[in-house]
Amino acid sequence: MGIFELVCLECGQRHQGLTTRCRGGCTALLRSQYEERSFRPTQVPSLFRFLDWLPCRREAETTAGPVVFPCERFGRRLGLDRFHCAFSGYWPEKGALNPTGTFKDLEAAPTLQSLVEQGIREVLLASAGNTARAFAHAAQSFDVKVFVVVPEAMLNRMWLPSGAATGTVRLAVVKGSSDYSEAIRLSEEISARYGIHPEGGARNVARRDGLGTVMLEAARVLGRLPDHYFQAVGSGTGGIAAHEAALRLLGDKFRNGEPPPRLHLSQNAPFLPLFRAWKGETWEPPLDDRVFASVLANRNPPFAIRGGVADTLRASRGTMYAVTDQEAMAAGREFSELEGIDLEPAAAVAAASLIQAAASGEIRRDELVLLNVTGGGLDLLRRDFTCRVLEPDLRFDASTLSAFENIL
Ligand SMILES: *Cc1c(COP(=O)(O)O)cnc(C)c1O
Repeated sequence: MGIFELVCLECGQRHQGLTTRCRGGCTALLRSQYEERSFRPTQVPSLFRFLDWLPCRREAETTAGPVVFPCERFGRRLGLDRFHCAFSGYWPEKGALNPTGTFKDLEAAPTLQSLVEQGIREVLLASAGNTARAFAHAAQSFDVKVFVVVPEAMLNRMWLPSGAATGTVRLAVVKGSSDYSEAIRLSEEISARYGIHPEGGARNVARRDGLGTVMLEAARVLGRLPDHYFQAVGSGTGGIAAHEAALRLLGDKFRNGEPPPRLHLSQNAPFLPLFRAWKGETWEPPLDDRVFASVLANRNPPFAIRGGVADTLRASRGTMYAVTDQEAMAAGREFSELEGIDLEPAAAVAAASLIQAAASGEIRRDELVLLNVTGGGLDLLRRDFTCRVLEPDLRFDASTLSAFENIL
């Protein structure tokens, strides 16, 4: 056995090397199984302190990493005695130095490192903004060319701290589109026709295990697993990853047979595909699908496949929340006033879901609660660096997607 294998969660087949689909044709996710079974974080000041449980052989040069600390003021407001945040944004005072301010930085670094180790020098992804920004930034340190497709309405998110070289990024926008299903369709087409390696989304194990470092960092800092884990989800990848990391820690007898943390996953109404599916209700995309936390607006999240969001919620005795724009904005404001940092809209959705849970008695005062602040400190990041928006190299018309070959 190498340092890891990927196990199909449907048929149990083992795969060597990084791949996103079971060779037996199963639709299930593949999960990494590491040779190293014990939890042995190192002193490395980034997420690579958990190299044993990342599908990479070597550490990469990066400042990306989660930071876990108590948030007493917000906790007191909620009536919680042991409330902690996992902060994956930019907040130097707390040691949080994610270069583009969200937990997408935790996905980009291990993904690009694993690609380089496989000799892959080009990667393609579609994104509503935060993923693209994280990969575009990370690309510079990895000598990997990153092709990004984003909806035009999200172009304003494609800023990078100046000084960042942009020679390794190619940006295409889909004109007149505001959610990213068109961008996904276009990127799939480009990948298929031109053989550019697709990043893989939720199927990308490097991405999931990178996000899983949030749970690992919590365990390292707290000395145990939290009872509850709160996060806002679009694809649900972060939630799946948190649960997988908890299982890995439990496998190390971290908590002697105690159950994994309960997952509390939230979405921004009216964009509620996962929330409705979990409740067993149908969901139609709303005509006006603009929501406060637009990064959460994913139309096709991996809900029902083996190892997906439904399995993860069941296995963690989890639950889901629907949060309105107003609730999210109010929670974000309150968090910011009490803790002194701005929240990315998706993180504000998660904070609002925590307020709901505290009010409904879903969590007890003495329980250890972890809020994944998936993005924050963007005001600070923009103050510390001058940021500039990337110029698109190509603009596609959503209605003439099929004709893109002539333009490329
Ligand atoms: C992408 C993103 C999410 C949602 O993550 P998924 O893994 O897609 O569920 C939450 N918060 C922020 C800030 C994000 O960028």
